Amino acid sequence: MLLKSLEIQGFKTFPDKTTLSFDHGITAVVGPNGSGKSNISDAVRWVLGEQSTRVLRCTKMEDVIFSGTPVRKAQGFAEVTLNIDNTLRQLPFDADNVAVTRRYYRSGDSEYLINKVSVRLKDINELFMDTGLGRDGYSIIGQGKIDSIVAARSEDRREIFEEAAGISRFRYRKEESERR
Ligand code: ATP
Ligand code: MG
Repeated sequence: MLLKSLEIQGFKTFPDKTTLSFDHGITAVVGPNGSGKSNISDAVRWVLGEQSTRVLRCTKMEDVIFSGTPVRKAQGFAEVTLNIDNTLRQLPFDADNVAVTRRYYRSGDSEYLINKVSVRLKDINELFMDTGLGRDGYSIIGQGKIDSIVAARSEDRREIFEEAAGISRFRYRKEESERR
């Protein structure tokens, strides 16, 4: 699955709208310590629906919003959009480009959109389920992730294999129908 671009605005070190375009092949991000490299992967996790402030390396969700500098005032909201090439229909959504957006205001209001249409977090989770790309996917290997897989309880490790094998969706549907 090809990530076409990432648009970041008001998120952590990116007060202004910044668009990163990814070509085919490998993209490397280089820069001095503290310049915001890891904040880019945080933006990807965040737009995919990450809810854990620990994973996002902050203490409360509001901390993802640009907090200002001595010469620049803080922003009122953070917004990230991930554009994904879906010409091969790897995502269960009938469009060649799928743009997933998350917006979060200081007031605590938050919004998720798929191709500019407001959706629930549940829809985002379902969109990426079994693709390996979602919040619980393995496409972002953070520090300590390998250790946590090795040390995981067997049930948790099975979930990782289920996601990789593309069968999480069936377990999810079974659990959903049992709840009804
Ligand atoms: P390293 O090379 O050390 O891994 P890095 O380039 O990955 O560094 P990041 O961790 O992405 O750096 O960025 C850290 C910086 O982001 C810190 O300077 C921190 O102050 C800044 N930062 C984090 N959240 C915010 C925010 N809400 N507003 C403004 N700046 C923020
Ligand atoms: Mg870093």
